[in-house]
Amino acid sequence: MLLVAEPSLGEEEKAALAAVIDAGWITMGDRVRAFEKAFAETQGVPDSVAVSSATAGLHLALAALGIGPGDEVLVPSATFVATANVILHVGATPVFVDVEDPALPLMSLDDAAAKVTERTCAAMLVDYAGYLPDAGRWRAFAEAHGLRLIEDAAHAAGVRGAGTIGDAGVFSFYGNKNMTTAEGGAVIARDPAVLERVRNLRGHGMTTSVQQRLSGHASGYDVIAPGFNYRMDELRAAIGLVQLAKLPGWNATRKDLTGLYRTRLADECPDVTVPFAEPRASAHHIMAVLLPDGVDRQRVADALRAEGVQTSVHYAPLHHFTYYRERFPGVSLPRTEDFARRELTLPLHPKMDAADVDAVVRALARALSSQREGIAA
Ligand SMILES: *Cc1c(COP(=O)(O)O)cnc(C)c1O
Repeated sequence: MLLVAEPSLGEEEKAALAAVIDAGWITMGDRVRAFEKAFAETQGVPDSVAVSSATAGLHLALAALGIGPGDEVLVPSATFVATANVILHVGATPVFVDVEDPALPLMSLDDAAAKVTERTCAAMLVDYAGYLPDAGRWRAFAEAHGLRLIEDAAHAAGVRGAGTIGDAGVFSFYGNKNMTTAEGGAVIARDPAVLERVRNLRGHGMTTSVQQRLSGHASGYDVIAPGFNYRMDELRAAIGLVQLAKLPGWNATRKDLTGLYRTRLADECPDVTVPFAEPRASAHHIMAVLLPDGVDRQRVADALRAEGVQTSVHYAPLHHFTYYRERFPGVSLPRTEDFARRELTLPLHPKMDAADVDAVVRALARALSSQREGIAA
């Protein structure tokens, strides 16, 4: 089966894990710090804070920026549910915003502007599929309305500029992302004081770490905020350091495969729309396509599966999930709904080659034409 996403793990990761076990220091040590520095360098920023997941990182970013009860946060509905869940975790209210267009599934500036109220305090951008929103336009929007900007860059590790559009950016190293630590994430922030607040809140709000105390650099600790345990451990950081070195090559492969998909789909499946037609910085995290109107997506997915091709949907709109529908009834986002109805995610990962892309596109063309014949009959 050709999978939608697949981690690349091997002997180097095994050796890195064994080295941590041999060393005996398994959490919050030199490797976590080394990984934070190396990841920051990859993103072209001074520093980062490694966390247990992107979800934890998003929660910390909101908390560190002082977003809380009574605040409204603009957020797309076309995203993974963690993006909105964390807004509720800090006691704030998510306000769902439509996408620009089904073929440009990033949060709409116009719809965001229409939904600003006197309670709006932040907007949560999502780098959908790894494509970066327009930094300049969002910064101007945030400035005009006095808003904080937080970027869910879970899809965008390794792209210069990702996570730097606003006040804070958060990356995911979950198993299906562009690089993985199994579970893990990282936070970057424009203001070093915000990043230090994230670092403090990550570890219970404590002012020093066990390592600092054991090494004699600190004798005790104070607690300056009711923080969390959102730490990364040395085993994950060790895997992360190996993966980070490979990330640029993998992202280049993803870019090539995406380009090939675009060409082959235009030839074989001209009625399939591939979003983000205009060039835009991207980590090419997933291969999202839009099926033609009226096509039964499940039947297409079943036909592809029968040919050994896994597919997925990114994403069911958040405002349609039971919890969100009941808590925030009456939300209507026509462009998001159209996008979510037609979107199909095709396999894309660096273990694939040109022949794999070809096989997927031909299988999709067959599935679509047999469905057209079915409709005609
Ligand atoms: C994967 C993902 C997350 C959550 O990342 P975790 O590291 O699993 O917590 C958040 N937002 C988006 C858009 C994601 O794809």
